[in-house]
Amino acid sequence: MTAADDCLFCKIVAGEIPAEVVHVTESAVAFRDINAQAPTHVLVVPRDHYANAVELAEGDPAVTAELVRVAAAVATAEGHDDYRLVFNTGPGVGQTVFHTHLHLLAGRPMTWPPG
Ligand code: AMP
Ligand code: ZN
Repeated sequence: MTAADDCLFCKIVAGEIPAEVVHVTESAVAFRDINAQAPTHVLVVPRDHYANAVELAEGDPAVTAELVRVAAAVATAEGHDDYRLVFNTGPGVGQTVFHTHLHLLAGRPMTWPPG
């Protein structure tokens, strides 16, 4: 599947909904989270629609790795050596958009374990 009906992030990838895009590749798009939880809070998504990280890893492992590379490039570009990468997987842990997205969070101290 390349795009899903009524998927917010498919619409951002297609340019149908505006977003502050910070990095693009052939297979991925990175844009700022609309409700930033850190000075740098960017979402890195595959252009193709997959519901979560596991579906992407099974369907397109190369693009799964690409998301990590893009997140690292954005972190470096924004001056961060240290950052947190998160794939929320399932509504029980807070996944609200069911198009795979890697959260890049950086620029403030962070605690562990996460809430
Ligand atoms: P998750 O809770 O892991 O599914 O993350 C979804 C993220 O998408 C949340 O951090 C939201 O703030 C973010 N978000 C929702 N709508 C938009 C939008 N239109 N543009 C950018 N980020 C968004
Ligand atoms: Zn989608």
